[in-house]
Amino acid sequence: MSPSKTIFEKIIDREIPADIVYENEHCLAFHDIQPQAPVHVLVIPKRRIENVANLTDADQALAGKLLLAARDVAQKLDLVDQGYRVVANCGIDGGQSVDHLHLHVLGGRQMKWPPG
Ligand code: AMP
Repeated sequence: MSPSKTIFEKIIDREIPADIVYENEHCLAFHDIQPQAPVHVLVIPKRRIENVANLTDADQALAGKLLLAARDVAQKLDLVDQGYRVVANCGIDGGQSVDHLHLHVLGGRQMKWPPG
């Protein structure tokens, strides 16, 4: 893991702006800067964990809080009736570009499967 701050840590520390939609003690959620759907929000833990592969058993509670935060974001943005997608890209083949664990919450259109 790189010792330097990722862009998401800079958002957490309010060093760069983001369109924040939800925050609690452990998680932060903000609109993706390059939305891939009418609603595209990233939900991140405030503590840096690189990705799903770097979760440990000790992170069990935080992993659950992250998923529940995604649920809350979807409720807040009125996605529940029509449905939505929650995605975590992990590593090179997963297409991860920011090395700070994040859930994509995508909604507002019909999603396709399989993803590209
Ligand atoms: P991933 O490719 O799964 O690592 O997702 C990283 C996401 O972060 C991409 O969808 C980017 O568009 C998004 N992103 C990068 N920089 C920012 C930023 N400053 N504010 C909001 N979203 C960002």
